[in-house]
Amino acid sequence: MAVTRTFSIIKPDATKRNLTGAITKMLEDAGLRVVASKRIHMTREQAEGFYAVHSERPFFGELVDFMMSEPVVVQVLEGEDAVKRNRDIMGATNPAEAAEGTIRKEHALSIGENSVHGSDSEENAKIEIDFFFKPEEIVG
Ligand code: UDP
Repeated sequence: MAVTRTFSIIKPDATKRNLTGAITKMLEDAGLRVVASKRIHMTREQAEGFYAVHSERPFFGELVDFMMSEPVVVQVLEGEDAVKRNRDIMGATNPAEAAEGTIRKEHALSIGENSVHGSDSEENAKIEIDFFFKPEEIVG
């Protein structure tokens, strides 16, 4: 299996509860390596741009406000089949449906405040990494 990269966000509900380390440990234990990481407070422009694909969805306004409500930690993760590996350890979008042992089962508060973001395809991973990181900020 090829070593690839994916993009992750530790969301405001998690940074607010001081879960950055606990969540990063779950990612590392799942075989992912943090090759870039920074804590930022998203601007409205960043939150709207990042989630532009959801702009017509009813929860868009709430989602953007939530993502700007507290700092987030954006990360690039590397590992074998990183996109799928990360989606597996994240668990389902709705924590009520997330499998035991996943980040969202363990830590998420609701379908909106669900602690982590992870790219859903290799193509989107590249776009999302480029959205937040310069190439020289990624150290593999
Ligand atoms: N979301 C929400 N309400 C919904 C569905 C999604 O607030 O009914 C939020 C939630 O934070 C989710 C994000 O929008 O993580 C992006 O949704 P997506 O369906 O892409 O889920 P994900 O890929 O994050 O599991």
